[in-house]
Amino acid sequence: MDKKILFATTNKGKLREIKEILDIPGLEILSLSDFPAIPEIEETGSTFEANAFLKADAVQHLFDIPVIADDSGLEVDILNGAPGIYSARYAGKTKGDKENLEKLLRELLPFGFPQAARFVCAAAFVSSDTRFCETGTMEGMIISDPRGSNGFGYDPVFMPEGFELTNAELELNVKNSISHRRKAFEKIRNHLITIL
Ligand code: IMP
Repeated sequence: MDKKILFATTNKGKLREIKEILDIPGLEILSLSDFPAIPEIEETGSTFEANAFLKADAVQHLFDIPVIADDSGLEVDILNGAPGIYSARYAGKTKGDKENLEKLLRELLPFGFPQAARFVCAAAFVSSDTRFCETGTMEGMIISDPRGSNGFGYDPVFMPEGFELTNAELELNVKNSISHRRKAFEKIRNHLITIL
């Protein structure tokens, strides 16, 4: 078997993590860095799954190669699932991780801490004749005071179930072994094994 799949990211850390999970003999995982630059794909879907498919479809169409694309974010129960699909741009399109995290804590202040939440990842596979999407979640709690310097995004205020440390205090390999992305991509791996 000599198969190639394009994982629609330019993020080196994500690529490394996903290559490690999709370690199927004879399968080569490429990234967007191996292809000519493409225009930004607007995430206009209303669910993680819709946005993952949107990205996978657009990239598959451009390069005519099987594609995996993912979309992820944080859902907080008391905020009815916000920031959800807006996690990356919660504080505004031009703002970053720090502002997003600060906005989250501001929104939660009236309700108190800790608050039940989960990270969600949807990963979509699209080829010329097959399409499917798998999701993974990581349950936990949002705490009031950021702790730790590993990871990214909302990691400093997210304490995963079964741990007394935040994602940002956990070693990266520990977080990656329990993450929403790990769970979604392990399901992708199991699915791919049956069709490749
Ligand atoms: P994307 O799917 O890579 O675009 O991620 C969307 C956003 O969700 C990120 O910008 C983060 O704000 C948040 N997010 C997703 N996964 C994680 C995680 O593992 N830790 C912290 N934040 C995350």
